[in-house]
Amino acid sequence: MEIYDHPTFRMACRQFDLAADHLELAESDRGRLKWPKRSLTVALPIHRDDGSTEVFTGYRVQHHLTLGPTKGGLRYHPDVTLGEVAALAMWMSWKCALCGLPYGGAKGGVTCDPTQMSRTELERLTRRYTQEMIPFIGPQVDVMAPDLGTNEQVMAWMMDTYSVHAGHSVPSIVTGKPVGLGGSVGRREATGRGVGYLINRATDTIGLDISGATAAVQGYGNVGSVAALSLARYGVRIIAVSDARGGVFNRNGLNLWELDKHVAAHRTVAGFPEGEPITNDELLTMKCDILVPAALERQITETNAGKLQCRILAEAANGPTTPEADVILEQRPEIFVIPDVICNAGGVVVSYFEWVQDLQSFFWSETEVTDKLFRILENAFGRIVALSRKEKISTRMAALTLGIKRVYEAKRLRGLFP
Ligand code: NAD
Repeated sequence: MEIYDHPTFRMACRQFDLAADHLELAESDRGRLKWPKRSLTVALPIHRDDGSTEVFTGYRVQHHLTLGPTKGGLRYHPDVTLGEVAALAMWMSWKCALCGLPYGGAKGGVTCDPTQMSRTELERLTRRYTQEMIPFIGPQVDVMAPDLGTNEQVMAWMMDTYSVHAGHSVPSIVTGKPVGLGGSVGRREATGRGVGYLINRATDTIGLDISGATAAVQGYGNVGSVAALSLARYGVRIIAVSDARGGVFNRNGLNLWELDKHVAAHRTVAGFPEGEPITNDELLTMKCDILVPAALERQITETNAGKLQCRILAEAANGPTTPEADVILEQRPEIFVIPDVICNAGGVVVSYFEWVQDLQSFFWSETEVTDKLFRILENAFGRIVALSRKEKISTRMAALTLGIKRVYEAKRLRGLFP
């Protein structure tokens, strides 16, 4: 499977291999579980605003089809490759299985820099990508959602393009849509809110008083900003945040209300006057109780894992910690890791709720959504902590084995086809 070769894909495979060893899976079962079932690469020519034509590359990977349609986000970022998308699709599989959702994992991406594109260019790109994906997606086939660099508006354009093709409105083709188009209340906040909920549970688990604890958040985007707000509501002081353009630090705690106004005006946290500048590297190793990487993969590596000074590492991003860093963290029991497959699962759980609501055309209140979300996260978190204690394995190994085992059992029951 050389077409997927990429550091992030190798990392996802390494994690899978370690979990498969722990589960003592037969060699003959491993390939079926590991390799993506399908992938599609498309060329996306669009007109730029200056009249030129540019061709972008888009991808979609569907990891397994055993438990239902595939589900996963769409990423717009300059570094997107097929291998990265495949790794993210694999993690989605274990995440959905761990949370008991009736989905296989998927992921999509377009190699582009959305910060350098106008709104009309982004709309053309999104509509063209959706058009090219039509034979490959559907409410019972593959359902997309926002991820890095995409948002509710992108989902609205996708839903519209697909619906025009179908000849009627198909809200269930994407999740993370605006509420006015059949989106779910609480979806935009779901990932960050879930991160906050699980950090609160982790503080109970290790006996840390959450009120007055300190946190640093790398990546103040959708997930990072909502996670920060959610933590602030538990009484946590957010002492540092960052984004792709820089970071800001204030030992007494940042005023998130003022910070959000600064971000709305400048599209970055950098330069926020009520704090001092801090680099992303400094943020990751600063002294704080809770560290929340909420940006990109492979941020905690063998270089900085030994220098972390947090008590809780809450992996809001997908794949922020490399397997080499995991080896170091396993020697540091003072750090409790909330692994990505559960930490950021709130997004796909509420995406599932949105899909169910769209299929039934029957919509729930925000209280119902949040209650049901927390119940699913609570159950998965409890099983992870119990397994990790019982088998004396890391929380990541516990989470991955629970997810992989469910997919393995479904494949065993069904046979070779899916
Ligand atoms: P987003 O685009 O809204 O925000 C990403 C943030 O990270 C931005 O502030 C960006 O400037 C920052 N960033 C980018 N490169 C950076 C770098 N090198 N250093 C520091 N900051 C950097 O994206 P998002 O939806 O918040 O996604 C963030 C992470 O959460 C991703 O790993 C994504 O896969 C994961 N995730 C998102 C969801 C969701 O519902 N949106 C669900 C599950 C997981």
